[in-house]
Amino acid sequence: MKYYSTRNRNLKKSLEEAVIQGLAEDNGLFMPETIPIIEQSLLRNMQRMDFREISLIIAKNFFGTDVPTTDLERITLDAINFDTPLVHLHDRIYALELFHGPTLAFKDVGARFMARLLSYFIKGYTREVDVLVATSGDTGSAVANGFWKIPGIRVRILYPKGLVSTIQEHQFTTLGENISALEISGNFDDCQRLVKTAFLDHELNSRLTLTSANSINIARLLPQSFYYFNGYAKLGSPTQDLVISVPSGNFGNLTAAIIAGKMGLPCKKFIAATNINDVVPEYLQTGKYKPRPSKATIANAMDVGDPSNFDRILDLFGHSHSKISKAISGYSYIDDKIREIIGRIQKKYGYLLDPHGATGYQALVDHSHNVNSITGFFIETAHPAKFRDIVEDVIHKKIDMPLSLQDAMNRTPVKTKLSADYKDLRDYLFAV
Ligand SMILES: *Cc1c(COP(=O)(O)O)cnc(C)c1O
Repeated sequence: MKYYSTRNRNLKKSLEEAVIQGLAEDNGLFMPETIPIIEQSLLRNMQRMDFREISLIIAKNFFGTDVPTTDLERITLDAINFDTPLVHLHDRIYALELFHGPTLAFKDVGARFMARLLSYFIKGYTREVDVLVATSGDTGSAVANGFWKIPGIRVRILYPKGLVSTIQEHQFTTLGENISALEISGNFDDCQRLVKTAFLDHELNSRLTLTSANSINIARLLPQSFYYFNGYAKLGSPTQDLVISVPSGNFGNLTAAIIAGKMGLPCKKFIAATNINDVVPEYLQTGKYKPRPSKATIANAMDVGDPSNFDRILDLFGHSHSKISKAISGYSYIDDKIREIIGRIQKKYGYLLDPHGATGYQALVDHSHNVNSITGFFIETAHPAKFRDIVEDVIHKKIDMPLSLQDAMNRTPVKTKLSADYKDLRDYLFAV
């Protein structure tokens, strides 16, 4: 299968090229030329399958012509080494929990899959590949863990000093092996600028094979469709009124849901749930897309003012606002409301939401007031312990730290401190 650029449908690449390149040379995002259709009978059979079996089916539909079956099975089963259970909350409202992977956030699915697919493609390379990633927190931990001990790949995580949470910092500075953490004296924009400058540095690129692993990579996006099928299958009986609500920042997760819909997942409505960074809900209402600088919130993995996957959503609906606003509804919540939701659901149902999942839950419930009947699940994108301070503050009690987090917290961070001056990063990369 070929992958085209959202800026030019005639610019097409193989899967291997699209994965290694990340972004198309015209700055467009890669999209699969055709979206495979899953037969309804196979959909029904999925009710008897576990998440890994379902993932294999979807992976083969997308990548089966580009990767031999045995390799693809190994990549998929190795990547998907945890479950995404569907948990009933009340009425016909469910949580699809995506936080059971190594870093306790949904980004584990895409990052783990991409790491293994990239490793497969570079098998014949004579030199190691260097993955450079700028992170404000969650991406760094998912990528670092996803690529940990993957042969042939070294990962450099650039993060802003003092601006990621202690938990997040421990998650990517304590792994060792092929993962290096670079603490930059600057902000996230500085980290991104350094990575971009490195990619444009001809001399550096003649000495090293550089690639990125950011969330726009097609190998991170497409595996995210796996768990929507799992959520549907775990509902148990076929439903005609399925609604899926996705807490959104860069909109990769929602894009993957829409792709699952185009593959035949019978979803009546997609919901974009956001914090006050509401450019997409505003677009759905007004038809006008007005990107702006992001504002800081307690659901900080969704603090995005110009979501990179919006171009993919436009592309999937032929740039038609009427089609997009028919398929997707948008809801946004201020921090105080998010706190209120977390407290109320804990009290009423004994279920602890994280700040991101809280928006997804509430959007689903608010939407259900406008329609006759729904069966819906929202995505619980992170474990509440990852946002411990906020959650404990709301429920006035301590919460348990999952073992993997305790483990990371007990290890000593190892990091290299660099200035925000590109020369420092360049010298570092040349030296190692
Ligand atoms: C990344 C992230 C999101 C946003 O996902 P997108 O695919 O960028 O929309 C939501 N919640 C958590 C916990 C995240 O880490």
